[in-house]
Amino acid sequence: MNVLIVGAGPTGLTAAVELARQGFVPTIIDQRLEPSGLSRAVGISTSSLRLLAPSGVTEKLLQAGPALQGICGYFNDKLLLSLNFSEHLPHNDHDAFYPPLHCLPQDQTEAILTSRFRELGGEVGYGIAFVKLEQNDLSVAVTTTSEKAEYDFVIGADGIQSLVRQQLAVAFNGYELDEPWSVADVETSHWQHPQQFSAFLKSNGEMCVAAPIGKNRVRFVSNTADALNTLPINVNVHNIRRQSTFTISVRQAADYSVGRVHLAGDAAHCHSPVGGRGMNLGIADATQLASCLINNSSTNYHQLRYEHASKTISITERGRRLLSSDNKLSTLIKPTAMKFVNQSSFIKRRFVKSMLDD
Ligand SMILES: Cc1cc2nc3c(=O)[nH]c(=O)nc-3n(C[C@H](O)[C@H](O)[C@H](O)COP(=O)(O)OP(=O)(O)OC[C@H]3O[C@@H](n4cnc5c(N)ncnc54)[C@H](O)[C@@H]3O)c2cc1C
Repeated sequence: MNVLIVGAGPTGLTAAVELARQGFVPTIIDQRLEPSGLSRAVGISTSSLRLLAPSGVTEKLLQAGPALQGICGYFNDKLLLSLNFSEHLPHNDHDAFYPPLHCLPQDQTEAILTSRFRELGGEVGYGIAFVKLEQNDLSVAVTTTSEKAEYDFVIGADGIQSLVRQQLAVAFNGYELDEPWSVADVETSHWQHPQQFSAFLKSNGEMCVAAPIGKNRVRFVSNTADALNTLPINVNVHNIRRQSTFTISVRQAADYSVGRVHLAGDAAHCHSPVGGRGMNLGIADATQLASCLINNSSTNYHQLRYEHASKTISITERGRRLLSSDNKLSTLIKPTAMKFVNQSSFIKRRFVKSMLDD
């Protein structure tokens, strides 16, 4: 089986590793001249760790990042919620091997996937852009900036602006959010929560989340144009490694498959980083699609993945609207709910279990 993967982000690289480890080393290209240095996603879910375990990638991801011990929540400058994973693992999961959430910058996750792909005999073709495709019942003819070649299948893992999706004339239904969001990666030696994922909600609807991404390094993401200034508590920043704003699209492709060409990851769906689901959905798409191609059941792929992403988008959007709402009722509900959860071991256990099962 001869497969071309367009895009060497986490989705394309996962598909490459999954196909290669099962004996089908694909061709993978990326228009970038070299691997991306951007660390967009940091949260790797338990389900992604489970999916990446058979290839040996999970072991390396766990070795590379700091162990996350729990989560905490602030309303304005008050710490109202603190949850330690190890205290609230469901009884039968006490021996669970994977943590409920693991933090690692996306460029490191990509580097680990790339290195595993190389060990399996593959190589990413950097500096090669997909240009166009034509397909019939038997194959797909693809033109790239380097050559014209025929493939049995093509995977479009080429991100939100996917040219593969555009060539297939597949609708990308949804909308854009008006407000700018921001991200900041900083070096600080005095961060209060070096082993926890923390969320800061404010009564004016602003929010900021913080994740440890290395020794003395913290990532902040906010629904404002300035993540660091949105924090209601002090952070002693030694160095800002990266700071930028970004806009958010909430969209989903109407079809994930057209004939022998399939869409995965951000090429198929995108939404806000609330819940940290984007990369994890892409990893799940990629493993499912690799399995469908190998088992000659790629016609099932759309059905297997579309509904799941559709639900995730609507949950993520409901969460984003609630967390960023500044109306009086939600300003009352948010701190009350945080205090309530903080006092309930039962809810904490259910929450940790939902993270493990996701
Ligand atoms: C600030 C921020 C924080 C985030 N945090 C999280 C998080 O904590 N957890 C999470 O799960 N997700 C998170 N996400 C989302 C996550 O980053 C994306 O969902 C993920 O990068 C999607 O991966 P992908 O491989 O599908 O697409 P991409 O990462 O966009 O990769 C697509 C690749 O295709 C290549 N390409 C594009 N066009 C062509 C072409 N014509 N020819 C060849 N190559 C091409 C591009 O160069 C690129 O390398 C976050 C996003 C942002 C912006």
